[in-house]
Parts: sequence; C-alpha cells; structure tokens
Amino acid sequence: MHTRIRWSRNDDSPAAAIVVAKSGDRKLGSTPGCAAVHLSQWSCPVTCSLLPTIEKMRTEFGSVYKKVKAVCYANSNKTRQRFTTHRLNSSKERNPVSIAREAARKILQLAHSKSMKRKLRLSVVGDARTRQAARIYSKAASEYQRLTNKNAYSYTHSLQTHRSDWHDVSVLASISCVNPDGTTRTQTEIQNDINSFRRRGYQKFSVVIPHTHNTTHTYDDVLTGLKLIACRYQFQPRTNTSKPLKRVTCDHCDLCLETCLERAQIDGVAFQLDDAGKVPV
Ligand code: SF4
Repeated sequence: MHTRIRWSRNDDSPAAAIVVAKSGDRKLGSTPGCAAVHLSQWSCPVTCSLLPTIEKMRTEFGSVYKKVKAVCYANSNKTRQRFTTHRLNSSKERNPVSIAREAARKILQLAHSKSMKRKLRLSVVGDARTRQAARIYSKAASEYQRLTNKNAYSYTHSLQTHRSDWHDVSVLASISCVNPDGTTRTQTEIQNDINSFRRRGYQKFSVVIPHTHNTTHTYDDVLTGLKLIACRYQFQPRTNTSKPLKRVTCDHCDLCLETCLERAQIDGVAFQLDDAGKVPV
C-alpha cells in the first residue's frame, strides 16, 4: 500500500516537501525499492554551483539549462523529476527551517503509517541549508530508523552544517569536481571544499568526477586525494554477450552509508556525469 502524496498545504500553496513510501526512481530500485524525500530547492545552500539562481527558479523551468553542460539531476530536461522539482519550488514556503519541519512531519507520518517500510533516501532534491534545518530534518529521519529498523541516508552540499547536526543518520558531504560549463574545477578549489567539510566533522564524501568510471575497484583519485569507489548503479560492466549485467540499485547497495565506507576504509563514492550531463546525486 502506498501513502498518498499530499501535494497541497493548508494555505493552498503546493507542498514544499513530499515523502513517498516507494520511489519510482530507477536508481533507487523497485524490489523492494526505497522510500524518498523531495524538498523544494529553497532548502538548498546558495553556494551549490548547480543550483539555479533565485531569478532562474522564477523563470520557466528547464529553459535556462540548455546552455549548461553539467546540471543538477533535479532540474534536468531529461528527467521526470524536474516536474516534481518545479512544483515543490513553486510552494509559498521558502524558509529552509519551515521546509525541514514540513519534511520531518511527513517522514514521521510515513514511519507510523501501514505502508511497507523501506530504506529512506533523503533529499532526492533539496538539502538542509542551515544547522537548525539539518537538526529538525535528521531528527525525524533518525526516528524513522528507530521505528522501522531501516536505514535513512543523505548527501549535503551545505557548508553551513556540521556532521553532528545529522544525529545518527548517514550523510555524505557532496563535492563536485565539475563546473556547470563542463570544465574541471581546479585542485585548489576542490581541496578547499574537502577541507571545509572536514573542519565541520564530515569524513565521507560523494564526489562528482570529471571522467568516466573505468574500474569497480577502489582507486586513489588524483584530483581530490581521496580513495574512491564508483557508484555501483552507474558502473555497469558488460558481459561477453551483448546483454548488460543487471544494475545494482540503491535498495540493494549500502555503499553510500558512512558505516559501510568506514568498514571498507574508503573515503567516498564517485559519480560520473551521465550522457545528458546530469549530476546524479
Ligand atoms: S553507490 Fe550504491 S547506494 Fe550509492 S548511489 Fe550508487 S547504487 Fe546507490
């Protein structure tokens, strides 16, 4: 049974946060799949290079992205996700703490509902920009873990938050080695981001790399200085026959959990841009 998505709030404005009991996203898988949280991009840190500017968010969605080579997955013209993103962004609610509260309430509703309980992917779109927002949002996700015995996990671009704000919910610090115009950022810029996150207590990273995956093994990444491993969904080695191997999906992969990376002594997961230039996390 699926919980109904409540798209509107009491003030008739579209919701700024939705929680689905089973996501339709292919990467998250289908048997059993994952539950997922989507937030308005007004919850994102303005420093994220892939975030549309406020002015851009007010324009017809999608049209401004034709010029860029690397685009946030949530805004890409190539995905259905952009419709969800646009609707969330058009909510009257623009305060990141209020958006976090709305998400927290819906996460707890799902935890107490009769829906089948699945691993919870936070922030398919959106983030927790402030420390207070991260605390409110992750407290509900932590409660979800306790009540359902399923993991909740996230990624953040927010340099305002500290790792300790996320309670016991797994969160990877997101670093992009690619500029929106498709060029590679300098090593100094990338190292500055990594050091800033480390000073805030983050130890594990999700990294958008400027090249394609060429190994399933861990490798020492020259640009970041991190020991990385390719996302298992993205890396799809082909068999000798022309048939591709079945993809590993997030419902059956725990690589993006900090505990899993810690056990394997890996610093982070590497994501390549897909053919359409979408940044996948
Ligand atoms: S590494 Fe695994 S959990 Fe992380 S995004 Fe890829 S498939 Fe999902």
